[in-house]
Amino acid sequence: MRALAGIDIGGTLVKSLLVDEEFREISFREFPTPRSGGPEEAFREIEERLIRQADESGATLSGLAVAVPGIVTPGTDRVVECPNLAGWRDFSLSPLLPRLKEALLSVENDANAGAFGEHFCGAARGKESFVYIALGTGVGGGLFLNGRIHRGAFGRAGEVGHIPVSDGPSPCGCGGTGHVESFAGARGILRRAREFYGEDAPGDTEELARRAREGDGTARAIFEEAGASLGRGIAAIVNVVDVSTVVLAGGLAGALDLMEDAIRRQVAHNTFGIDPSLVEILVGENGSRAGCVGAAAIALTELKKRKEGRYGDTDAS
Ligand SMILES: [Zn+2]
Repeated sequence: MRALAGIDIGGTLVKSLLVDEEFREISFREFPTPRSGGPEEAFREIEERLIRQADESGATLSGLAVAVPGIVTPGTDRVVECPNLAGWRDFSLSPLLPRLKEALLSVENDANAGAFGEHFCGAARGKESFVYIALGTGVGGGLFLNGRIHRGAFGRAGEVGHIPVSDGPSPCGCGGTGHVESFAGARGILRRAREFYGEDAPGDTEELARRAREGDGTARAIFEEAGASLGRGIAAIVNVVDVSTVVLAGGLAGALDLMEDAIRRQVAHNTFGIDPSLVEILVGENGSRAGCVGAAAIALTELKKRKEGRYGDTDAS
Protein backbone atom coordinates (compact mmCIF):
# COMPACT_ATOMS: atom_id res chain seq x y z
CA MET A 1 0.00 0.00 0.00
CA ARG A 2 1.28 3.45 -0.87
CA ALA A 3 1.11 6.02 1.90
CA LEU A 4 1.56 9.74 2.46
CA ALA A 5 2.99 11.00 5.73
CA GLY A 6 2.24 14.22 7.54
CA ILE A 7 4.72 14.99 10.31
CA ASP A 8 4.06 17.79 12.80
CA ILE A 9 6.98 18.77 14.98
CA GLY A 10 5.82 20.52 18.12
CA GLY A 11 7.73 21.96 21.04
CA THR A 12 6.99 18.83 23.08
CA LEU A 13 5.59 16.15 20.73
CA VAL A 14 6.13 14.92 17.20
CA LYS A 15 2.91 13.66 15.59
CA SER A 16 3.09 11.37 12.61
CA LEU A 17 0.06 10.54 10.47
CA LEU A 18 0.05 8.08 7.58
CA VAL A 19 -2.81 8.22 5.09
CA ASP A 20 -3.50 6.38 1.87
CA GLU A 21 -4.00 8.14 -1.45
CA GLU A 22 -7.72 8.51 -0.70
CA PHE A 23 -6.73 10.32 2.53
CA ARG A 24 -7.93 7.49 4.76
CA GLU A 25 -5.93 7.13 7.96
CA ILE A 26 -3.48 4.23 8.02
CA SER A 27 -1.77 4.92 11.34
CA PHE A 28 -0.98 7.68 13.81
CA ARG A 29 1.98 7.88 16.19
CA GLU A 30 3.27 10.48 18.59
CA PHE A 31 6.48 10.67 20.57
CA PRO A 32 8.45 13.31 22.50
CA THR A 33 10.29 15.81 20.33
CA PRO A 34 13.98 14.87 20.45
CA ARG A 35 15.53 17.94 22.01
CA SER A 36 18.88 16.90 23.38
CA GLY A 37 20.85 17.46 20.17
CA GLY A 38 20.22 19.83 17.31
CA PRO A 39 18.00 19.23 14.30
CA GLU A 40 20.45 16.66 12.83
CA GLU A 41 20.00 14.31 15.76
CA ALA A 42 16.26 14.96 15.98
CA PHE A 43 15.60 14.19 12.33
CA ARG A 44 17.71 11.05 12.48
CA GLU A 45 15.30 9.75 15.11
CA ILE A 46 12.21 11.08 13.31
CA GLU A 47 13.31 9.40 10.06
CA GLU A 48 13.97 6.14 11.84
CA ARG A 49 10.58 6.17 13.57
CA LEU A 50 8.70 7.10 10.40
CA ILE A 51 10.29 4.29 8.40
CA ARG A 52 9.41 1.87 11.20
CA GLN A 53 5.83 3.18 11.32
CA ALA A 54 5.45 2.66 7.57
CA ASP A 55 6.96 -0.85 7.78
CA GLU A 56 4.69 -1.85 10.63
CA SER A 57 1.69 -0.51 8.70
CA GLY A 58 2.68 -2.46 5.59
CA ALA A 59 2.97 0.84 3.72
CA THR A 60 5.44 2.30 1.24
CA LEU A 61 5.98 6.03 1.60
CA SER A 62 5.28 7.85 -1.64
CA GLY A 63 5.23 11.34 -0.15
CA LEU A 64 5.99 13.26 2.99
CA ALA A 65 5.36 16.79 4.26
CA VAL A 66 6.84 18.18 7.46
CA ALA A 67 5.33 20.98 9.57
CA VAL A 68 7.74 22.83 11.86
CA PRO A 69 7.06 25.36 14.64
CA GLY A 70 8.97 28.13 12.95
CA ILE A 71 9.74 30.10 9.83
CA VAL A 72 10.37 28.35 6.51
CA THR A 73 11.77 30.13 3.46
CA PRO A 74 8.84 29.94 1.02
CA GLY A 75 9.12 27.30 -1.68
CA THR A 76 12.19 25.65 -0.12
CA ASP A 77 13.07 23.07 2.53
CA ARG A 78 15.03 25.73 4.44
CA VAL A 79 14.06 26.33 8.08
CA VAL A 80 15.05 29.84 9.16
CA GLU A 81 14.34 29.40 12.85
CA CYS A 82 12.15 27.56 15.35
CA PRO A 83 12.06 29.89 18.38
CA ASN A 84 10.97 27.20 20.84
CA LEU A 85 13.58 24.61 19.83
CA ALA A 86 17.07 25.56 20.91
CA GLY A 87 19.62 25.40 18.11
CA TRP A 88 17.06 24.92 15.33
CA ARG A 89 18.23 27.69 13.01
CA ASP A 90 19.24 27.92 9.36
CA PHE A 91 19.14 24.36 8.12
CA SER A 92 17.79 22.51 5.10
CA LEU A 93 15.68 19.46 5.78
CA SER A 94 16.53 17.19 2.81
CA PRO A 95 20.11 16.39 3.92
CA LEU A 96 18.78 15.46 7.37
CA LEU A 97 16.42 12.86 5.90
CA PRO A 98 18.81 10.90 3.63
CA ARG A 99 16.55 7.85 3.35
CA LEU A 100 13.38 9.87 2.79
CA LYS A 101 14.53 12.88 0.83
CA GLU A 102 13.07 11.52 -2.41
CA ALA A 103 9.69 11.37 -0.67
CA LEU A 104 9.97 14.83 0.91
CA LEU A 105 7.45 17.03 -0.91
CA SER A 106 7.06 20.05 1.33
CA VAL A 107 8.27 21.78 4.49
CA GLU A 108 5.77 24.17 6.02
CA ASN A 109 5.18 26.35 9.03
CA ASP A 110 2.87 24.48 11.42
CA ALA A 111 0.12 27.11 11.47
CA ASN A 112 0.13 27.26 7.67
CA ALA A 113 -0.17 23.47 7.61
CA GLY A 114 -3.03 23.69 10.12
CA ALA A 115 -4.79 26.23 7.93
CA PHE A 116 -4.37 24.04 4.87
CA GLY A 117 -5.79 21.07 6.77
CA GLU A 118 -8.89 23.01 7.87
CA HIS A 119 -9.47 23.95 4.22
CA PHE A 120 -8.85 20.39 3.01
CA CYS A 121 -10.91 18.50 5.59
CA GLY A 122 -12.04 20.73 8.44
CA ALA A 123 -14.00 23.80 9.47
CA ALA A 124 -12.97 25.83 6.40
CA ARG A 125 -13.96 23.34 3.71
CA GLY A 126 -15.12 25.32 0.70
CA LYS A 127 -13.69 28.61 2.02
CA GLU A 128 -11.33 30.24 -0.43
CA SER A 129 -10.03 32.78 2.10
CA PHE A 130 -9.76 32.78 5.87
CA VAL A 131 -7.44 33.53 8.73
CA TYR A 132 -6.35 30.65 10.95
CA ILE A 133 -5.36 31.39 14.53
CA ALA A 134 -3.74 28.71 16.69
CA LEU A 135 -4.26 29.45 20.38
CA GLY A 136 -1.68 27.44 22.24
CA THR A 137 1.03 28.43 24.69
CA GLY A 138 1.60 31.27 22.25
CA VAL A 139 -0.56 32.47 19.39
CA GLY A 140 0.32 31.28 15.88
CA GLY A 141 -1.46 32.10 12.69
CA GLY A 142 -1.77 31.49 9.02
CA LEU A 143 -3.44 33.25 6.13
CA PHE A 144 -5.24 31.21 3.51
CA LEU A 145 -6.10 33.52 0.63
CA ASN A 146 -7.72 32.78 -2.72
CA GLY A 147 -7.39 29.04 -2.35
CA ARG A 148 -3.79 28.84 -1.18
CA ILE A 149 -1.48 29.47 1.74
CA HIS A 150 -0.21 33.03 1.73
CA ARG A 151 3.37 32.90 2.98
CA GLY A 152 4.59 36.42 2.33
CA ALA A 153 8.04 37.59 1.30
CA PHE A 154 9.95 35.85 4.12
CA GLY A 155 7.56 33.09 5.19
CA ARG A 156 6.34 35.18 8.12
CA ALA A 157 2.83 36.05 6.94
CA GLY A 158 -0.10 35.55 9.28
CA GLU A 159 1.73 36.07 12.56
CA VAL A 160 -1.44 37.26 14.25
CA GLY A 161 0.04 36.74 17.71
CA HIS A 162 2.47 39.59 17.27
CA ILE A 163 0.04 42.29 16.27
CA PRO A 164 0.46 45.06 18.88
CA VAL A 165 -2.71 45.70 20.86
CA SER A 166 -1.51 47.47 24.00
CA ASP A 167 1.14 49.92 25.14
CA GLY A 168 1.47 48.06 28.43
CA PRO A 169 4.47 46.04 29.59
CA SER A 170 2.86 42.60 29.15
CA PRO A 171 5.63 40.35 27.82
CA CYS A 172 5.23 38.40 24.58
CA GLY A 173 7.01 35.17 23.63
CA CYS A 174 8.79 37.05 20.83
CA GLY A 175 10.53 39.38 23.28
CA GLY A 176 8.19 42.30 22.53
CA THR A 177 5.37 43.60 24.72
CA GLY A 178 1.65 44.21 24.40
CA HIS A 179 1.09 41.82 21.48
CA VAL A 180 -2.03 39.69 20.98
CA GLU A 181 -0.11 36.69 22.33
CA SER A 182 0.66 38.57 25.58
CA PHE A 183 -3.04 38.32 26.47
CA ALA A 184 -4.56 35.54 24.37
CA GLY A 185 -1.91 32.81 24.52
CA ALA A 186 -2.09 30.34 27.41
CA ARG A 187 1.15 31.71 28.85
CA GLY A 188 -0.26 35.25 28.85
CA ILE A 189 -3.63 34.18 30.26
CA LEU A 190 -1.98 32.31 33.13
CA ARG A 191 0.32 35.26 33.82
CA ARG A 192 -2.76 37.48 34.15
CA ALA A 193 -4.36 34.86 36.40
CA ARG A 194 -1.32 34.95 38.70
CA GLU A 195 -1.48 38.75 38.81
CA PHE A 196 -5.13 38.66 39.89
CA TYR A 197 -5.33 35.54 42.06
CA GLY A 198 -1.80 35.36 43.47
CA GLU A 199 -1.32 32.02 45.20
CA ASP A 200 -4.86 30.95 44.37
CA ALA A 201 -4.15 31.11 40.64
CA PRO A 202 -5.24 28.08 38.60
CA GLY A 203 -2.47 25.93 37.13
CA ASP A 204 -3.95 25.69 33.65
CA THR A 205 -6.41 27.44 31.36
CA GLU A 206 -8.99 24.63 31.64
CA GLU A 207 -9.30 25.30 35.38
CA LEU A 208 -9.55 29.04 34.72
CA ALA A 209 -12.28 28.37 32.12
CA ARG A 210 -14.15 26.21 34.61
CA ARG A 211 -14.07 29.02 37.17
CA ALA A 212 -15.30 31.47 34.51
CA ARG A 213 -18.20 29.23 33.52
CA GLU A 214 -19.15 28.89 37.20
CA GLY A 215 -19.50 32.66 37.34
CA ASP A 216 -16.14 33.74 38.79
CA GLY A 217 -15.95 37.40 37.73
CA THR A 218 -12.15 37.56 37.74
CA ALA A 219 -11.82 34.51 35.51
CA ARG A 220 -14.47 35.91 33.18
CA ALA A 221 -12.62 39.22 32.99
CA ILE A 222 -9.35 37.48 32.07
CA PHE A 223 -11.03 35.64 29.18
CA GLU A 224 -12.76 38.85 28.11
CA GLU A 225 -9.39 40.58 28.02
CA ALA A 226 -8.02 37.69 25.93
CA GLY A 227 -11.02 37.97 23.61
CA ALA A 228 -10.63 41.74 23.32
CA SER A 229 -6.97 41.36 22.31
CA LEU A 230 -7.84 38.67 19.80
CA GLY A 231 -10.66 40.84 18.48
CA ARG A 232 -8.28 43.76 17.91
CA GLY A 233 -5.89 41.43 16.10
CA ILE A 234 -8.69 39.99 13.98
CA ALA A 235 -9.94 43.50 13.18
CA ALA A 236 -6.45 44.44 11.99
CA ILE A 237 -6.39 41.45 9.64
CA VAL A 238 -9.93 42.07 8.40
CA ASN A 239 -9.01 45.67 7.67
CA VAL A 240 -5.95 44.61 5.66
CA VAL A 241 -7.04 41.50 3.76
CA ASP A 242 -10.86 41.63 4.04
CA VAL A 243 -11.50 38.03 5.04
CA SER A 244 -14.86 37.08 6.53
CA THR A 245 -13.93 33.76 8.12
CA VAL A 246 -11.77 33.18 11.19
CA VAL A 247 -10.84 29.63 12.25
CA LEU A 248 -9.67 29.32 15.84
CA ALA A 249 -7.61 26.24 16.66
CA GLY A 250 -5.48 25.01 19.55
CA GLY A 251 -6.48 24.16 23.10
CA LEU A 252 -7.94 27.57 23.91
CA ALA A 253 -10.36 27.46 20.96
CA GLY A 254 -12.54 25.47 23.36
CA ALA A 255 -12.95 28.66 25.42
CA LEU A 256 -14.46 30.58 22.50
CA ASP A 257 -17.75 30.82 24.45
CA LEU A 258 -15.90 32.92 27.05
CA MET A 259 -14.25 35.19 24.48
CA GLU A 260 -16.62 35.55 21.55
CA ASP A 261 -18.63 38.57 22.78
CA ALA A 262 -15.40 40.49 23.44
CA ILE A 263 -13.95 39.44 20.07
CA ARG A 264 -17.08 40.63 18.27
CA ARG A 265 -17.19 43.94 20.15
CA GLN A 266 -13.62 44.73 19.09
CA VAL A 267 -14.19 43.63 15.50
CA ALA A 268 -17.25 45.89 15.36
CA HIS A 269 -15.37 48.79 16.95
CA ASN A 270 -12.18 48.55 14.89
CA THR A 271 -13.32 47.75 11.37
CA PHE A 272 -15.26 49.96 9.04
CA GLY A 273 -17.39 49.43 6.00
CA ILE A 274 -18.27 45.85 6.92
CA ASP A 275 -21.12 44.35 8.88
CA PRO A 276 -19.25 42.65 11.77
CA SER A 277 -22.02 40.08 12.13
CA LEU A 278 -20.90 38.76 8.73
CA VAL A 279 -17.48 37.84 10.14
CA GLU A 280 -17.86 34.19 11.06
CA ILE A 281 -15.77 32.70 13.84
CA LEU A 282 -15.36 28.94 13.58
CA VAL A 283 -13.59 26.41 15.77
CA GLY A 284 -11.15 24.16 13.89
CA GLU A 285 -12.21 20.55 13.44
CA ASN A 286 -8.83 18.84 13.31
CA GLY A 287 -8.14 19.36 17.00
CA SER A 288 -4.77 18.36 18.41
CA ARG A 289 -3.88 16.69 15.09
CA ALA A 290 -4.29 19.90 13.06
CA GLY A 291 -0.61 20.14 12.11
CA CYS A 292 -0.11 16.54 10.98
CA VAL A 293 -3.50 16.36 9.23
CA GLY A 294 -2.56 19.55 7.38
CA ALA A 295 0.89 18.24 6.53
CA ALA A 296 -0.58 14.98 5.20
CA ALA A 297 -3.09 16.99 3.14
CA ILE A 298 -0.23 19.06 1.71
CA ALA A 299 1.72 15.88 0.89
CA LEU A 300 -1.26 14.39 -0.94
CA THR A 301 -1.94 17.64 -2.81
CA GLU A 302 1.71 17.99 -3.83
CA LEU A 303 1.88 14.35 -4.95
CA LYS A 304 -1.22 14.71 -7.15
CA LYS A 305 0.16 17.89 -8.62
CA ARG A 306 3.43 16.19 -9.51
CA LYS A 307 1.60 13.28 -11.08
CA GLU A 308 -0.30 15.76 -13.20
CA GLY A 309 2.95 17.43 -14.14
CA ARG A 310 2.03 20.73 -12.53
CA TYR A 311 4.94 22.40 -10.84
CA GLY A 312 5.37 25.65 -9.03
CA ASP A 313 1.89 27.13 -8.99
CA THR A 314 0.05 24.91 -6.58
CA ASP A 315 -2.95 24.73 -4.36
CA ALA A 316 -0.72 23.99 -1.41
CA SER A 317 2.02 26.46 -2.10
ZN1 LIG B 1 5.10 39.09 20.05
